[in-house]
Amino acid sequence: MNFDLTDEQEHVRRSVREFAEGEILPHVLEWDEAQKFPQEEMRRKMADLGWLGVLQPEEFGGAGMGYIEYAIIIEELARVDPALALSVAAHNSLCTGHLAIAGSAEQKAKYLPMLTQGECWGAWGLTEPGAGSDASGTKTVAVEKDGGWLVNGSKNFITNASYAGLCVAVAVTDREKGNKGITAFLFEKGMPGFGPDKKENKLGMRASDTASVVFSDCQVPSANMVGNRGEGFVDAMKVLDGGRISIAALSVGCAQGAYEAAIRYSKEREQFGKPISSFQGIQFKLADMATEIEAARLLTYQAAAMKDAGRGVTKQSAMAKLYASEVSVRVSEEAIQIHGGYGYIKDYPVEKFWRDSKLLTIGEGTSEIQRIVIAKRVLNQG
Ligand SMILES: Cc1cc2nc3c(=O)[nH]c(=O)nc-3n(C[C@H](O)[C@H](O)[C@H](O)COP(=O)(O)OP(=O)(O)OC[C@H]3O[C@@H](n4cnc5c(N)ncnc54)[C@H](O)[C@@H]3O)c2cc1C
Repeated sequence: MNFDLTDEQEHVRRSVREFAEGEILPHVLEWDEAQKFPQEEMRRKMADLGWLGVLQPEEFGGAGMGYIEYAIIIEELARVDPALALSVAAHNSLCTGHLAIAGSAEQKAKYLPMLTQGECWGAWGLTEPGAGSDASGTKTVAVEKDGGWLVNGSKNFITNASYAGLCVAVAVTDREKGNKGITAFLFEKGMPGFGPDKKENKLGMRASDTASVVFSDCQVPSANMVGNRGEGFVDAMKVLDGGRISIAALSVGCAQGAYEAAIRYSKEREQFGKPISSFQGIQFKLADMATEIEAARLLTYQAAAMKDAGRGVTKQSAMAKLYASEVSVRVSEEAIQIHGGYGYIKDYPVEKFWRDSKLLTIGEGTSEIQRIVIAKRVLNQG
């Protein structure tokens, strides 16, 4: 067992850190307040660095890296700005991930390079107003028409939806078949009857776009079916197995950013004639934070390494996502406590880490859903 990263992986970490501290850090609060980041500029820059096609092979314009490198990239982006990391994770794991898992050779050749080369952002639509944790409650419907499919319905809470060029979304094609009657389709920006709708005004992750998408008599060619008819739900679950590793990594990065801010502040701030870091009450908090972050990172890298080894990761990625996201909330809350009143104001970064962290216990399956997934596996029920 070897816990050391390779030189190449360390290099990836250093380059993401340098980019994040140089190009993102100076704007984090501004983007949070504006509820957007310069998506075109960031898309171009991050595509040049390979971060919009991390896991895809070079033949499709990707960086050909593995999940460990992917986790490092998301972690380092989140250490500075979890919101930007969320948009990058949704692009890589969800939209691109679904096409990579289930797309045909023609679809991969045509669409993967658009995503990996940063021609457009990708979005992924599973959630609907009436179908959140229970994705089998999908109401969006696709009916065969004129050799293609007529899609009606909507998705909500979709990351990158306002400006995504490609969106993979699921719809019911055979209602009587339940989960096995759900099919995925690829929607392209500009298709008549398809487009973004209400943008959400959020507690955290504010710079990351979250909006609804609407399908109104949208005629989709049959060539845009992703995967086999009736396999959209199962494929979506596979997509989430990988996606949850990225949310775990995002959680580790978010916690790390808050923790480092707390360490810095505890050494600078003096009360009772001493730096507050000299008080055991503060030291114990920092010790717990450091320990929990390390445990979360190990779970995350373990899931990533298993995924790279081609092993099943449903339980491991749910464990990593569950634990890391809850650590992220706890650590960022303690970071505020260590900052006292200053932690509550926007001159310091910790309030934003705390606001951002909460999404991590909700998106790509809530903590309760992760516990259900884990319990099923430990009880051999699925
Ligand atoms: C910022 C943001 C970005 C997102 N991005 C995307 C995206 O890109 N694509 C996408 O498809 N979705 C996205 N989502 C949606 C997200 O995945 C859902 O919000 C999440 O799965 C929960 O669904 P829900 O909000 O409908 O909550 P609900 O399912 O209504 O859950 C409400 C509460 O009930 C609990 N609960 C539900 N069922 C059970 C059960 N069986 N046992 C115990 N407790 C249960 C939940 O854990 C939760 O606490 C995003 C959400 C947000 C907020």
